[in-house]
Amino acid sequence: MELSRRHALTGATAIAAAPLFPSLQAKAATPVADKQAPSFYRYKVGDIQVTVVSDGRNTFPLEDSFVLNAKKEEVGAALAQAFLPSDTMTIYFAPLVINTGGKLVVIDTGTGPVAKANSKGLNGLFADNMAAAGFDPKAVDMVVISHFHTDHVNGLLAADGTLAFPNAEVLVPAVEWKFWMDDGEMSRAPAGRMQNLFKNNRSVFEAALKKKVTPYEWGKDVAPGLLAVDTIGHTPGHTSYVLSSGAGKVYIQSDVTNNPNPFATHPGWHAFFDQDADMAEKTRRKVYDMVVAEKLQVQGFHYPFPGLGNVVKDGDGYRVVPAPWNPAI
Ligand SMILES: [Zn+2]
Repeated sequence: MELSRRHALTGATAIAAAPLFPSLQAKAATPVADKQAPSFYRYKVGDIQVTVVSDGRNTFPLEDSFVLNAKKEEVGAALAQAFLPSDTMTIYFAPLVINTGGKLVVIDTGTGPVAKANSKGLNGLFADNMAAAGFDPKAVDMVVISHFHTDHVNGLLAADGTLAFPNAEVLVPAVEWKFWMDDGEMSRAPAGRMQNLFKNNRSVFEAALKKKVTPYEWGKDVAPGLLAVDTIGHTPGHTSYVLSSGAGKVYIQSDVTNNPNPFATHPGWHAFFDQDADMAEKTRRKVYDMVVAEKLQVQGFHYPFPGLGNVVKDGDGYRVVPAPWNPAI
C-alpha cells in the first residue's frame, strides 16, 4: 500500500484521538529536562581504550573576519548546505582519555574552568564529563598537549588555579614549547590575540606549572602506541597523532581542520586562528589525502561529538562521514 502524506496525517490524527490505554492517562505533566546526558563516548583501538570526553561547544555570530579569504555569506552558504544555521558558527571541543592498559593518558584538556564560568557551562566541561566517565584526575599518568591554544591547555588548571592532573607528566611538542617560551617571539607578537596567547601560555606553563613539562619530538611514541606527527601551520609546533594497537589504528588530527563544516568541505579557507594559513592549508590537504587513500579513521578535536569518522574526497574538498554510535565497546 502506498503511504501518502495524507494517509500519514490522517493516521496520526486517528491515533492521537484514540489513546491505546485510556485508563492509564498520566495524572501530572512530566517536567521538561534542562540538561543533556554527560557526553563521553568509548571505543577501542586494538587493546587500547579511547574515551572521547566532550568539553562542550562555543557558538558565535559569523563575521567576515572569521575566514580571511571568504565572505561571511559564502561561509554561511556552506554551513546551510550542511543543514546548519548560516549566521552562526559552532565549534566543539573534545579532549581524549586513553587507557593503554598500563597508562592513563589525556590528550588536550579543553577550555578550562574560567571558560566554564564565562560560558555559563556551554564549554569548560572536560573535568565534569571526565568524572562522569569514571576517571579520577589524580590517576592520570600523562597529559599530552597538541598545541598551545587556550582550548587545549587551559584545562591543565583547576578552578582554584592548582594543577588539574597533579600526578601527571605533562608532555608538550618541543617546537611549540620553544616558540611560546621565546621572549623574542613574545616581544614581536602582534597586539591583541597573539599577545594574549603568549600571556596565557606564560601564566599556565610558567606561573602554574613552573615549567615542569617534558618536550617531545615528532616521529616518536610519546605514550604507548601514540606516535606524534608534525602537522604544522595552525601553530608552529602543531602536532597530530597516530594511535595504534594490533590491527587497530586511528589518526588523531588535533586542529588540522576545525569543524569539518566548513573547513573540510573548503580546505582552502583560511580561518583567522591558523597562524601560518598557507602552511595550515598545505598540511590539511596532505593529511586528508593520506587518510582518504589509507581509509584511516580520524578523530577530530573540533568535530561534532564524538568526533570519530572517515574522510572521503568530495570535489575540491573533503567530507567527513561520522562513525556510527556503537552501544557496545
Ligand atoms: Zn583548537
